[in-house]
Amino acid sequence: MTYDLSHQAIRDGVQKLCADFPGEYWRRCDREQAYPTAFVRALTDAGYLSALIPEAHGGLGLPISAGAAILEEIHHSGGNAAACHAQMYTMGTVLRHGSDAQKLEYLPGIADGSLRLQAFGVTEPTSGTDTTALRTTARRDGDTYIINGQKIWTSRAEHSDLMLLLARTTPRDEVEKRTEGLSVFLVDMRKVKGASLTIRPIRTMMNHATTELFFDDMPVPAANLIGEEGKGFRYILSGMNAERILISAECIGDAKWFIDKAARYATDREVFGRPIGQNQGVQFPIARAYAEMRAAELMLNEAIMRFEAGGNPGEEANLSKMLCADASWAAAEACVQTHGGFGFAEEYDIERKYREARLYQVAPISTNMILSYIAEHVLDMPRSY
Ligand SMILES: Cc1cc2nc3c(=O)[nH]c(=O)nc-3n(C[C@H](O)[C@H](O)[C@H](O)COP(=O)(O)OP(=O)(O)OC[C@H]3O[C@@H](n4cnc5c(N)ncnc54)[C@H](O)[C@@H]3O)c2cc1C
Repeated sequence: MTYDLSHQAIRDGVQKLCADFPGEYWRRCDREQAYPTAFVRALTDAGYLSALIPEAHGGLGLPISAGAAILEEIHHSGGNAAACHAQMYTMGTVLRHGSDAQKLEYLPGIADGSLRLQAFGVTEPTSGTDTTALRTTARRDGDTYIINGQKIWTSRAEHSDLMLLLARTTPRDEVEKRTEGLSVFLVDMRKVKGASLTIRPIRTMMNHATTELFFDDMPVPAANLIGEEGKGFRYILSGMNAERILISAECIGDAKWFIDKAARYATDREVFGRPIGQNQGVQFPIARAYAEMRAAELMLNEAIMRFEAGGNPGEEANLSKMLCADASWAAAEACVQTHGGFGFAEEYDIERKYREARLYQVAPISTNMILSYIAEHVLDMPRSY
């Protein structure tokens, strides 16, 4: 099958935009743990963050392969799209399951950048990966839901107007299946921040603008419930393939950046009177990382093709996320090793990208949970948890 996933004009445009945000820019943000506001603004103004929003709602109406191309190029340029990537996939929940009124109210603003939907509140400190055990509750009181509880790792909450929030509307012991009784809300954080919503930043090993949130009788209009009450877990799951595909593309971009950097340095750096890249001990890990990246990229393209054909490619999206994250991590290792001591020097950007690439072994889904998915849903082995 031939299928053009290249979106070359988009890639060229993103590369041009990223050239205005060189390593020095990302290094400064990283040092100060500062949000890359200027970069996100430039990306928004150029329309790239609205790529997946339908034209009828003010977006570019492009397929997911275009979103993947955008994110890959950002990472391939040495930047990091984690500051804003969530907008691409969280928006999909509103698009697929929101009412016409909600789409009309929110999507055009998200598309033109006047509204930011960057925050996605699912993970909680006590439940972790076991999402259905989450403890945040939403109790209906007339036209309002009252929300109480806590989230952790809610990235970009300080830099977002809206948040997609998963909370329990029916206690776990009152539903037949633990996946029932959870609901999704579109929370306008501007109305509750500093009052019933407290946001506390968490400093992390890389610059990620992540936070913990506390809800203390936080009111959310019932009109902001997405879809049907109690069906929220299904809505969140329906966005997971898109999320995994887009994150995979970021990993491929990282892998290409590490490989380019390593191959160039191995060719230029002379020790013992010859380029270090002339030694097979140096060139093989880079060549292997390239092979692994290309293989992972094929799986990513397979997931994209199936997704764009209207399928629900859980297997391919999960495999892609795992293989692409592994490929970027192998490339990161090879790149640090090739640079010797300079791999640890801030000004080379490698140690920063290395810290950033490590995240994808854990988030948005850890490798173990992908292996569990493959074992249970693809290979029909017993459920392990
Ligand atoms: C920087 C950062 C940003 C994030 N951003 C967001 C965000 O915006 N929104 C959001 O909702 N979440 C976010 N997360 C949360 C992320 O999705 C979780 O950290 C991740 O899913 C793992 O959950 P956990 O940290 O609770 O680990 P745990 O669930 O406590 O698991 C710890 C370890 O045990 C393993 N493990 C657990 N259960 C099993 C099992 N049954 N079998 C095998 N292994 C198992 C896991 O794989 C993991 O390695 C973010 C996390 C980080 C670090």
